[in-house]
Amino acid sequence: MTTKNLSILGSTGSIGTQSLETARKCGYSVSALSAYSNVDLIEAQIREFKPQIAALVDENSAKELKIRVADTDTKVLSGLSGVCECAACSDADTVINSVVGMAGLRPTLTAIECGKKIALANKETLVAGGLLVTTNAKAKGVDILPVDSEHSAIFQCLQGQPTNRALKRIILTASGGPFFGKTREELEKVTVVDALKHPNWSMGQKITIDSATMMNKGLELIEAVWLFGVHPSKIEIVVHRESIIHSAVEYTDNAVIAQLGLPDMKIPIQYALTYPERIESLTGELDLTKLGTLTFYKPDYDTFKCMNICREAISRGGLYPAFANSANEQANFMFRQGKIGFLEIGELVERVMNDAPKVDTYTVDDVYNADIEARNLVIKYSGKQ
Ligand code: MG
Repeated sequence: MTTKNLSILGSTGSIGTQSLETARKCGYSVSALSAYSNVDLIEAQIREFKPQIAALVDENSAKELKIRVADTDTKVLSGLSGVCECAACSDADTVINSVVGMAGLRPTLTAIECGKKIALANKETLVAGGLLVTTNAKAKGVDILPVDSEHSAIFQCLQGQPTNRALKRIILTASGGPFFGKTREELEKVTVVDALKHPNWSMGQKITIDSATMMNKGLELIEAVWLFGVHPSKIEIVVHRESIIHSAVEYTDNAVIAQLGLPDMKIPIQYALTYPERIESLTGELDLTKLGTLTFYKPDYDTFKCMNICREAISRGGLYPAFANSANEQANFMFRQGKIGFLEIGELVERVMNDAPKVDTYTVDDVYNADIEARNLVIKYSGKQ
């Protein structure tokens, strides 16, 4: 299905604003926008793109927005139900979900229910509720196109293969984040400011901290399991400092196909919208001779334990990934508030992941209950409020 009309969830964030740049360039209409609480930016977006509906999760911000855009035709909604209404917006054929965290799960399921094509940047949706998302999408015949740069790369490398039978291995690349090469002792005292200095990508705060702990790569491993139907043992993480190779796949004949490009999210965003076509983009050209060298390393699994915690969680299945994800959302937040140390994030995620109940299947309510439970356990184990 060709994209013509978008609903963008998380429109004021990094992916959301770049999606709107892409919409402007490609001439897509925008019929719904949602965000958490950024009134100023969503007001400007409403004035430019004139969506039918807009939603802010935060009730007070939504009230203010309603007053500010009273002179427009845009209907303002609030809360998670407002975001779900944006996901269901009848004029939109494609929903870009760039909500941060597992809060994006219900909107994703709503979009699937309404038969929308989904450009998914909200990886936590697949980590927490991968079974529900993939089962429902299959039943409804809905396409889920990855926006995450690594998964877009893998998806691009798989083009031309009718099945993934010949797929031997996925090589998931990681920049290594700002703390590559550091020891556990050196990481004991790092600050939020240190952790927010990502070498290659400019992103929101939550994901930047996830990159520093390398939890982001663990989440991406789980995301790849669901998107591409591969066993977790078939995904190898390779540290590639320059973020030029966005990931690769190895086939049974040992041929390796990689996707390269400048680290710019507008490439994967646009490909998710134009697939299977390609059109000119706003991204610069890659000049390999300017780069000269590309480097690769094995990850340091002892220092950055979150990668293997996620591998273990998805190998166990059930609600283990949901517990790991929600524990991380809470611990990441508490680190940013200065309440816990950097290394405590991984320790708390590991402990809480191990507390998940053993179940084979789950409902959406189970995932949201797991979220509350995992967050409470992090608070309890950290000894902080
Ligand atoms: Mg990524």
